[in-house]
Amino acid sequence: MFEHLNSPIQKIELPPFERLFVKRDDLIDPYISGNKWRKLKYILKEAQNQNRTHLVTFGGAYSNHLVATAALASRKNLKATAFVRGEEVTNQMLLLCKLYGMDLIFVDREAYKNKIHLFDTHFETDKNAYFIDEGGACLEATLGCEEIIDELDTTYDHIFCAAGTGTTASGLLNGIYKNNLKTKLHIIPVLKGGDFIAEEIKKYSSISNQLILHTDYHFGGYAKTTPELITFIKDFTAKTGMLIDPVYTAKMFFAIKDLAEKQIINNNDKILAIHTGGLLGMFGMMDKF
Ligand SMILES: *Cc1c(COP(=O)(O)O)cnc(C)c1O
Repeated sequence: MFEHLNSPIQKIELPPFERLFVKRDDLIDPYISGNKWRKLKYILKEAQNQNRTHLVTFGGAYSNHLVATAALASRKNLKATAFVRGEEVTNQMLLLCKLYGMDLIFVDREAYKNKIHLFDTHFETDKNAYFIDEGGACLEATLGCEEIIDELDTTYDHIFCAAGTGTTASGLLNGIYKNNLKTKLHIIPVLKGGDFIAEEIKKYSSISNQLILHTDYHFGGYAKTTPELITFIKDFTAKTGMLIDPVYTAKMFFAIKDLAEKQIINNNDKILAIHTGGLLGMFGMMDKF
């Protein structure tokens, strides 16, 4: 499954842009969505190489990564466990995790901070357990994300992508180097104080003048929104027929539009936005719409 996927690229009509394209990684799979599939691809390979049959990972109660890991594990006949940050809750995303057979262990915020310790204490005797960090952040994850660039058959002036941990950004940057492209990579951190992303990207990739961080589009912080962003989402989806999520991709598309209005990028530049998926995230924000 998915081993030879090549996600489609779609041109969208969104004035004033003349050449705005979207790499539809959100269409890869509804539950192993977007960059989470890209990140899990080589993590899964590594786990299989080591003959591990139990994926153990970490996330918040609305984590796209948890749903993706749960879905992948069930389809590959693997066991999955997640440590979920905070007190026990139920929601749409955790329901999916449970349906896919994932075991959920809720841990308070203090205990959650020490992931290695949690893993070691719970799975000391389980030699099949394979540790996957929160959001799937690791070197293997960058390899899958690099392939997004390998799949492109034309060159863009700008590529845009939202960032949480920055792992996807590292992979994209490596892909740009490897393919010798002049493309500028614009990263939109969705957390407040997003300058830390530069350090994270550096872990797996060397920083270049082709990387540009735009740290002013967090809308208050991770999973925070404003009425302006909500209005933008409704308008964008009504006009383009494309769903975007309030946590990541909406902030990226807002940034693209705002940077064009400020003439930091040109309306007729060739732009590729990576739709990293994550549409289930909107279920955590129903009251905002
Ligand atoms: C997890 C996620 C990201 C962030 O990816 P990182 O590699 O952690 O930067 C971006 N977009 C969506 C939709 C996500 O679910």
